[in-house]
Order: sequence, then structure tokens, then C-alpha cells
Amino acid sequence: METDILIVGAGILGMSSAYYLKKRDPTLKVVLIDKLNGPAQGNSGKSEGAYRNLFTGEANYLLADSTIDWFHNFQEKMGYDIKLSQQGYIWLFSEEQYSRNKISIEVMTKRGAETQLYSGKEIKEYIPDLEIDFTENEESEILGLENIDIGVYGVKCGSLDADALVRAYEAEFLRLGGEIHYNTIATKLLHEPVEPLGIPDEPFVWQESRIAGVNTPKGRILAETTVVATGTWAAELFDPIGYDCFMRPKKRQLFAFKDHRLNRLLKVEGLNESNILPLIILPKAGIYLKGEKTEESIWLGCADELGRKFECEDNPQPEDEYYSNNIYHVLVQYLPCFDNVRPENAWAGQYDINSFDKTPVVEEGPGFIYIGASSGSGIMKCDALARIVEALYNEEEYANLYGNRKFKVSDISIKNRKIEKETLII
Ligand SMILES: Cc1cc2nc3c(=O)[nH]c(=O)nc-3n(C[C@H](O)[C@H](O)[C@H](O)COP(=O)(O)OP(=O)(O)OC[C@H]3O[C@@H](n4cnc5c(N)ncnc54)[C@H](O)[C@@H]3O)c2cc1C
Repeated sequence: METDILIVGAGILGMSSAYYLKKRDPTLKVVLIDKLNGPAQGNSGKSEGAYRNLFTGEANYLLADSTIDWFHNFQEKMGYDIKLSQQGYIWLFSEEQYSRNKISIEVMTKRGAETQLYSGKEIKEYIPDLEIDFTENEESEILGLENIDIGVYGVKCGSLDADALVRAYEAEFLRLGGEIHYNTIATKLLHEPVEPLGIPDEPFVWQESRIAGVNTPKGRILAETTVVATGTWAAELFDPIGYDCFMRPKKRQLFAFKDHRLNRLLKVEGLNESNILPLIILPKAGIYLKGEKTEESIWLGCADELGRKFECEDNPQPEDEYYSNNIYHVLVQYLPCFDNVRPENAWAGQYDINSFDKTPVVEEGPGFIYIGASSGSGIMKCDALARIVEALYNEEEYANLYGNRKFKVSDISIKNRKIEKETLII
């Protein structure tokens, strides 16, 4: 098969890129393939679907903030039910933690991210199940728990259905005449000379070479441009051609709870329009949880610093003891309503981490574009990143993000990168 553009990967980044490339020039043949049997079957469908515009780095703020505006457009104007719920994020801090983060919070607020400050007591009024004071508590002392003195509430933050989001982009891509082949694995990037001479072992060092498409078990797909959007699997395609994609996969697990003892926690009156628990980040151990409106459950994750290995697994599994030995002891101190409550469901995926600045990469090479390394925030930045792919393909210096906001394409490349290190990663 031959095509103008081949996209490898039907996750959020591949699908949104496919949409913008096809939309820009519907006469182009744009083909998308995925090794799995449908959209969002990789990490996109396993994500928590949480979004926020609270980032310390300016680029991350712009990527997320414009994407959030697009989410509203997608749901409210284009009619896709992506289950958008602007339920907010609350970062919970002790006095000491807050003073360490105060400058970053002020910078984010000045930039335009709307925040509200609450005292520990005010937070407790909204969330009566939350313990905020651990003075003279022996177990808490052993666990090194911090009091909750301050909560920073991000207003333009919330949650959506990541699977529905990918399917919405898919519907738009197909409507424009895009072509999708599931159950089609790219086994190899075709690294070939621009002007082949038909000699074995080409390309040679004296030949100009490019990525000319991919091999699949169903045959070669030749493309003028190959967009590699394979998430945590990117290195499997890039390592054999000696290209460094600056992404390492690390396991992340989510636990879902549905238990009558959590009913009061789930329904928080007055903080957001849905009267549901916002995403709250506890001051200890990287534990975060949110109310999931669609199924009236609570989803919990942990941004641990355990020294977990980098590993690309096809089917990572959640670990029961990770919840019971690591998370539970801290959780039940802050939220005693979790006493003896077990997760009803759990799943695991992988974060695609760029350890250097924790910000995504959109980079081009001869015959290809790479989009990835989204460091656990690919859903919430997808629309902006896909528009950067579109601008890069069309050789434009600036991408036009939703809301007519400009982003210099080379800033997020590997070669000419100009990105501040992100410190607010969960
Ligand atoms: C537990 C968890 C929670 C998360 N929570 C959030 C969150 O709340 N908010 C947020 O913004 N982000 C979150 N993330 C991160 C987010 O899910 C990712 O950043 C995002 O899904 C990356 O999208 P992607 O398209 O690059 O990758 P993927 O969705 O993984 O898509 C890559 C696709 O490429 C396909 N593929 C791979 N190799 C090949 C090949 N050789 N040939 C053909 N197809 C191939 C795969 O099958 C897959 O479908 C979370 C991630 C995890 C694991």
C-alpha cells in the first residue's frame, strides 16, 4: 500500500494528529494503523482522563489550557459527549509545603490559571471525611504525615472520558475520509535511501536516507511521511534505527472504589457544579483521588517515587499489595472512611516519561514525525500537540492552537528545544 501520510498508533496522540492532518488537506491520503483491535486500546483508554491547566512550565500551560478550551468546543458545540466534568483539582499542602511551592503557584496564577486558596478548616467543611490535623498521632508520625493547612483549588481542571475523546477524533477523521486499519502492527520502520540503487544493504553512509514507511505482517506500507505515535512502544520502532525518542515507560496503576462508606466523600457540595469530589492530591506519598461522576465511584492513583523500573510491558497488571502495603496506610489516615474498604476494580498502564523536562516531544526527521513522551499528560494536551504535528508537516513556524493561540513548533522539538522543566507532575 502507498499513502501520503501514515500514522502508527490509534491512541489519543495518533488519532488527533490524523484528524488535523486530514482536515487541513482532505485530498491527502491519510492512513492510520494500530496493532490492537480498536481505538484507545493502549494507554489512552487506561488513563484517568483528568485534566488541568496548572503547570509550572509555560509551554505545558499553553498546551493544556488551549486543549481544555477545545474539549468544551468538542462537547458543547460539536456535540461529542466526552463526559466533560469541570470538577476542579485541589492540591493539599502543609504550611511548609505551601511556602516551598508558593512562587510556582503565583506564577501559574499570573499566567492565567484561575486558582482559589482555602484554609485546611475550609477544606474540611467541604470534605468532612478528610483528616487535617495529625498532631500527637503516633501512627501518623511514623508515616511522616503532614497536616493539611492549605488547599489550592484549580478551577479550569476536571475529568473526561478518554476513550470517548479518542472515538470523537476517530469519528471526525473517518468523516473526512481517513482510513484506519486495526490489528495491523508496524514491525519495522523502513529506513531506505531517498534514491535507491537496488544494491543490497542500502542505505550506505554516502546516500541520503529517510523513513519510507513501515513493514507489517500484511505487507509494506510506503508513505511520504510516517507519523510515529506509538506511545510507550515508540522505542521498539526507533531503537533499531538508532533514533533516541527520549521516552521511558513506567508503570502506573489506578484503583476504583464503589462502597457505601464512601458516599459522603464522593458527594462534595458547593465546590463545583457537579457537587462531586474534585481531584484531590494528598500532601504525602503522591496519592491522588477523584470522584468519577459517570459511575459514582472514586478513582485513586499514586505518583510514587519507589524506584520502579522503566519497562515496556504489553499487558501490565495492577498489584494488590501495592494498594494494601503502600497506599492504604497513608490513605486511611487522611480519609478514615477508607477503613477496610477494598478496590472494586483496578488496572495498570504505563506513563511515557521524558525525565529531562517532563514535557512532550514533537520532532521531525527525514520522512517521519514523532509525537510522544507526554509524561502522563497526553490526554490533557492532545489537541495542541496534534495541531503542532499539523504545522510541522506543513512546514510552518508556528502552530495555531485552539483559540488562536500561537506555539513555536521548534520549541517542543528535540533538536531546538526551548522548554522550561516542569515541576508539577503527578
Ligand atoms: C494509569 C494511567 C493514568 C493516566 N492518567 C492520565 C490523566 O489523568 N490525564 C492525562 O492527560 N494523561 C493521563 N495518562 C497518560 C496518558 O494516558 C498518555 O499520555 C496518553 O494516553 C498517550 O497517548 P498516546 O497516543 O501517545 O499513546 P497510546 O494511547 O498508548 O497509543 C499508542 C498506540 O500505538 C499502538 N502501537 C504501539 N506500537 C505499535 C506498532 N508497532 N504498530 C502498530 N501500533 C502500535 C498501541 O497499540 C497504542 O494503541 C495516564 C496514563 C496511565 C497509564
